[in-house]
Amino acid sequence: MDHNASDALQDLHYFGEFGGVNPSISDSSTYTFLSAKTMFDTFEGNTEGCYLYSRHSSPSNLYLGEALAALEGTETANVTASGMGAISAVILQLCSAGDHLVSSRTIYGGTYAFMKNFLKRFGIEVSFVDITRPEAVQAALKPNTRMIYCEAVSNPLLEVANIPALARLADARGIPLVVDNTFSPLSIAPARLGAHIVIHSLTKFINGTSDTVAGAVCGTREFCLALKDVNDGAGMLLGSTLDSLRAASILKNMRTLHLRIQKHSANALYLAQRFEADGLRVVYPGLASHPGHELMQELIVPEYGFGGILTLDAGSLEQANRLMELMQRENLGYLAVSLGFYKTLFSAPGTSTSSEIPEEEQEAMGLSDGLIRFSIGLDHDIQRTYQRMRQCMESLELLPELNSTNG
Ligand SMILES: *Cc1c(COP(=O)(O)O)cnc(C)c1O
Repeated sequence: MDHNASDALQDLHYFGEFGGVNPSISDSSTYTFLSAKTMFDTFEGNTEGCYLYSRHSSPSNLYLGEALAALEGTETANVTASGMGAISAVILQLCSAGDHLVSSRTIYGGTYAFMKNFLKRFGIEVSFVDITRPEAVQAALKPNTRMIYCEAVSNPLLEVANIPALARLADARGIPLVVDNTFSPLSIAPARLGAHIVIHSLTKFINGTSDTVAGAVCGTREFCLALKDVNDGAGMLLGSTLDSLRAASILKNMRTLHLRIQKHSANALYLAQRFEADGLRVVYPGLASHPGHELMQELIVPEYGFGGILTLDAGSLEQANRLMELMQRENLGYLAVSLGFYKTLFSAPGTSTSSEIPEEEQEAMGLSDGLIRFSIGLDHDIQRTYQRMRQCMESLELLPELNSTNG
């Protein structure tokens, strides 16, 4: 009855040109036409299934797009050369000079910088709001508001957006709700909850091997075709095109996404519970202490859990840096930005991925200096990982309650 994303992905089938079990990779930037008339029609956007030039579309990118549409339950999807390539194209497709958009204030640093600093050049105004309060979104809407933007689970503070409530606000205005679902593929299906456009950085969980930068826009056929329009499509004209070789490798990695997300989520939940019991300040939406826990429980597909990201407050930037360096020396993960790798990755967002956000605004949104963002890996034995992380924390005297009760 219900659309199941993993079944939809499993049921896709493609054959290569020699009957290979994987689709052939299209190794061409341009395509021949048997008749000049067909070339003209293709430029006019009138010919389904004809390839023109690979910035517009290529077989490998269309295959990957099909898989992403199956994942999100949308009519179709366009792939881009990065998550930012998808985000910038969608915003510039929807908003023109004199327009306004409402965005969550806790979003990926690059998206924040694009909205706050770059859109000014085009005369596009942005209101940043606390996305956990739909009434704040409602109050920020203006007659010239063209879209509502948020992340399903935000970077790095893990705020959970009430997608159904936000979608109702957008529907009442006839504007799209655009949701970046990079942190929660499979767990949350924004389009099935009412969102109109779903964006991904494929660089993270979906690819999962930290070897590729790529992005995607999932939406209606009409919107995705408009993005590709040769005359005024932001996707086509800004030129963020994914290479076919990379599209093919991401498609192959997507086949294990359901297994990986289950393991990332289970490992993250285990560590979050143990760290919380140890008296550490841990933020994870799978914990009852998280303000968005109940909402997320309603929104998720339970078998995929609450995702692989958690944050821990080490108290100060110095302590955070010492802990991350020690964990890296102990081979518990890498001090690196990004997420979704098989090894745990950790970084201090205040000085890295969210450094675009001014300090006083970081403070206002609760992004403290000592915050460490963890992308929990696929560790086979997470109890062993926990014990070893705990030893690192003990040696830095980061377990206050434990020290005092044992002392
Ligand atoms: C990484 C990230 C992006 C940007 O994606 P790129 O592939 O690096 O361009 C956008 N949104 C979120 C939530 C991200 O984590």
